[in-house]
Amino acid sequence: MRIKIRTLTPIWTGNINRESTKLRETSIIGSLRWWFEAIVRGLGGYACDPSSENRCKLDQKRFQRSIKEGKTVQEALDKQVCPVCQLFGCTGWSRRFRLEINGIHNEDIEKGKGSEAGLRVNTVFNLKFIFLSDLVPEQKWLLKKTLWIIENYGAIGGRITWKPNGKWGTSYGLIKIEDYGEFRQWDTFSDINKVKTWLKRNKELIGKENDPNWFNFRFYWVVEGRYLTRKQINEIVKRDPENPKEYLPDADENFDKWLGGCVGVSKKIFSFGNPQKVFGYVRDDNELNIIYQRIQKLFDKNINFKRGYEILDDISGDKNG
Ligand SMILES: [Zn+2]
Repeated sequence: MRIKIRTLTPIWTGNINRESTKLRETSIIGSLRWWFEAIVRGLGGYACDPSSENRCKLDQKRFQRSIKEGKTVQEALDKQVCPVCQLFGCTGWSRRFRLEINGIHNEDIEKGKGSEAGLRVNTVFNLKFIFLSDLVPEQKWLLKKTLWIIENYGAIGGRITWKPNGKWGTSYGLIKIEDYGEFRQWDTFSDINKVKTWLKRNKELIGKENDPNWFNFRFYWVVEGRYLTRKQINEIVKRDPENPKEYLPDADENFDKWLGGCVGVSKKIFSFGNPQKVFGYVRDDNELNIIYQRIQKLFDKNINFKRGYEILDDISGDKNG
C-alpha cells in the first residue's frame, strides 16, 4: 500500500538539535495520529491523548479473559483501547502498520538550521504502509478520510508553529497527495453512520470522556487564500505589540493565552504564506464565533471561513475524497 506525495511547502525534518537531516517515519506517524485523533473526537468518539497519564493501555489478562468468553479480538479491544490506539498502538498493543518513506534523495533536503531547512518544495516521495493485520472497514474509512483531511486542511511533520524570525507565520508541512493508491477505495468499505456507531459503542465501553482542551476537528477552522502575519496573529491572541512575549492586560487567561500559547502550551493558529492558508482550532461553537469575528475584523466581510463540522458534513457524503 503506497501513496505518492508532493510537497507544497518544505517539510520540517529536524532533529533535536534543530538540524535538518532526514525525514523520519516517526514524525509522519506522529502527524497522522494527531489528525486521526481529532477526527475520531469530531465524529463523537473517544481518543486518548498519548502524552497524558490517562492514555490507553491493554490489560492482557482482561483481554485474554474476553477472548476466552468468546469475544472476537475486535470486541475485546473495544472494551479497553480507543480507536486511535487500536491502529497506532499503546502499551500492550502494537501499532498495526509499519511505515517506510521511499524516493527521497540527498539533494531533496536543504540541510542546516535555516528558515528553509527541510524537505524541499516540489519533492515527490512515497509513503509505504505495511499492515501487520487486517483493519476493520470503519478503521479503513477513518484512515482514508484522515489522509484526505491532512491533504486539504492539514499539514505534516514537526514545526507547524511559527518561526520566531520568519516572514510568514508558518510555512512547513503542506502536501498534495498525487496518488492514493489502494487507499482510494478505503472509504467505500464503510460509511459515516457505521463509523459513528462504532465510535459511540467504543466510547461507551471504555467509559472515558475527551478533555475539552484536546483537538476536536468539529472546532477546527480554516481560511484559504489568506495568511496572517506574526503581527496579526499576535493581535488576535492579544499579545502586547510592543513586547510580543507578553500578553495585553485584558488578555483572557482561559481563552487568549490558550489560543496564543505559552511555555508548555503550543499555539492554536497556523498560518502559511505560500500557498496562502490559515487554520487553527478552538474548543466550542462560542470560541469559533470569537475567532471568526477577530479574523473578519483583520480582513473584510468576504472571507471564506470554513468550520470543521462543515468539513465533517462534507466528507459524510460522496462529495469528495
Ligand atoms: Zn488511546
